[in-house]
Amino acid sequence: MGVKRFRRDPGERYRLDDFDPSDNGGIESKNAGRRYLKDLQGRLNELQQVLYAEGKHSILIILQAMDCAGKDGTIRHALSSFDPQGASVTSFKVPTEEERAHDFLWRIHKAVPRQGQIAIFNRSHYEEVLVVRVKGLKPEETWRGYYDHINAFEKLLTDSGVTLLKFFLHISPQEQAERLRERQERPDKQWKFRPGDLEDRGLWPQYMEAYEEALSRCNTPRAPWFVIPADRKWYRNVAVSEVLIETLEGLNMGYPKPVVNIQDYKISPVF
Ligand code: ADP
Repeated sequence: MGVKRFRRDPGERYRLDDFDPSDNGGIESKNAGRRYLKDLQGRLNELQQVLYAEGKHSILIILQAMDCAGKDGTIRHALSSFDPQGASVTSFKVPTEEERAHDFLWRIHKAVPRQGQIAIFNRSHYEEVLVVRVKGLKPEETWRGYYDHINAFEKLLTDSGVTLLKFFLHISPQEQAERLRERQERPDKQWKFRPGDLEDRGLWPQYMEAYEEALSRCNTPRAPWFVIPADRKWYRNVAVSEVLIETLEGLNMGYPKPVVNIQDYKISPVF
């Protein structure tokens, strides 16, 4: 069944209750998971090298999640498989004054990767139908129109050779509570603690409803959403890596052919 278990067909409704956040994909131990992850990392590294060398496709990875679900950890892990020259990360925060003075996709479009590159978005244009909707930051008639704009924008990208992969890191409220407590208690994690996270936690059902609508309405064959079980950090990394590998393999990439007959060039043994 492969990575299809993390997604729904276009047009089908995503119900988050159908996805188990503590799924381990049948891998019984964390150690076995970690060993498997090493193999996946090796394969990802090979595939990224071909992507970079071939310079034909670009990959855009979008990460969305509730707080503490592991966006930062996923980025750290993914980047450890990539050559930094071929990868970038952009984090989208509360829009600045300048960003607010443009359309909502302006800041997003500028960060879309060029051919040969992989870009990871830590949050994205989806915030406009998530936090904006849940907290009422814009009138409903405004954000309601955004689903169509998002689909049109993503179609432009996929028609232009960008492969989009959208991940919702699916954590349970119980696991989030554990991780928030850890942030309160551990000196090396306290810097991440924000009172606003508790406010968002209080709006859990509203967020899940907003996620379900965004995932269901903006899920196309070339820009699919994946619901990644995120209660176990190692399995979250396994699942994301599996999706990436399957997608990159599906691009049938190859190293470019030499532009000259290489054997004609003699390399002199001395200077
Ligand atoms: P993170 O939680 O991603 O590690 P921060 O703690 O700095 O980073 O949070 C970024 C904040 O920016 C989040 O609360 C997020 O909801 C908010 N944000 C991102 N994009 C938008 C947007 N388009 N409109 C309003 N708020 C946004």
